[in-house]
Amino acid sequence: MAPPSEPLASPTAQFMQYVTGYWITQILGTLVRLEVVEQLAGGPRPCDDVARALGLEGQHLYRLLRGGVTAGMLVEAPPRTFALTPLGEALRRGVPGSMRGMALAMSNPGHWLPWGQLGEAVRTGRPRTQETLGMDFWGWLNRDPVLTEEFAEAMGNISDEVGVELAALHDFSSLARVADIGGSQGVLLGHVLKAHPGCRGILFDQPAVITSARARLEAQGLADRVELVGGDFFASGIPEAEAYLLKFILHDWPDAQATRILQRLHDGSPSGARLFVLEQVIPDDGSPSFASLLDLNMLAVVGGKERTVDEFRTLLAATGWTLEGISPSRTGMSLLEARRKL
Ligand code: SAH
Repeated sequence: MAPPSEPLASPTAQFMQYVTGYWITQILGTLVRLEVVEQLAGGPRPCDDVARALGLEGQHLYRLLRGGVTAGMLVEAPPRTFALTPLGEALRRGVPGSMRGMALAMSNPGHWLPWGQLGEAVRTGRPRTQETLGMDFWGWLNRDPVLTEEFAEAMGNISDEVGVELAALHDFSSLARVADIGGSQGVLLGHVLKAHPGCRGILFDQPAVITSARARLEAQGLADRVELVGGDFFASGIPEAEAYLLKFILHDWPDAQATRILQRLHDGSPSGARLFVLEQVIPDDGSPSFASLLDLNMLAVVGGKERTVDEFRTLLAATGWTLEGISPSRTGMSLLEARRKL
């Protein structure tokens, strides 16, 4: 495989890069999981030093590090000394623009195994988590705090960038309470609250996720402005608020369940309530889009789907919400703004 920076020799080489894409996923996940990335965080280090620090065999680690070079994450300064590239820096924990959580979540069994049965997902229109993980995706995540944390970190990686845009795009200051429904560890909500000091926040998610959110909010100095509510958006009361955030929630569910979530939000909200839906929108002109790939992820892993603007408008209208505007985001997501019908 040619390094991404080099021109590809032939159509065969280009094809090989596509069909071996899953190797890259595992190389990135493994560099993080084996803690190689944190070992290189302070600057270049000889392979054997890193191997010693991690209790690994230098000769085997060297092969992974060379793979990391080809994947664009590392550079080798011979002899056998490695450093993170600017892209590789994003594999570090807690740095601005970190994508560490995504590297972990996409390479662990929760995504990896269901994707291995994409054909069956297409054949049946159903996710492959029961067959591969023995339970649904959310149950699988929440039975292990490490997995819960990894996935929450992954979601936070994406929310961090779009959160800045959301907070700048809309003036939340007239809205007393902003509730992030399925808000994970509150990264998106945190951006809104930091930009609009007059607002209070409500973070609603499954109890296991809410437990892991407290420390993160405290670290941001936001704990006293956020009410943490653990619950199930299909069962327990969704908190009342003047504005709701719903990011990467509707795409997790087929229409029947997405309708129930929107209906519950509507029923519990005051008149004039605002709803901000952040999702990848499927283009309706047949053009290629990342949303179409994410749609397959939703099919195989959770049984949800991505939607076109018209599909969102219909879903919202059927549950008492009027779609009032759509703004693009640099992240490729769209911000759909809706208002509660009186
Ligand atoms: N909005 C966040 C997280 C999206 S992932 C973000 O974009 O960063 C989907 C979230 O829905 C997860 O945090 C998951 O814990 C939550 N979730 C899944 N099922 C739920 C349920 N039944 N009730 C409440 N939250 C749920």
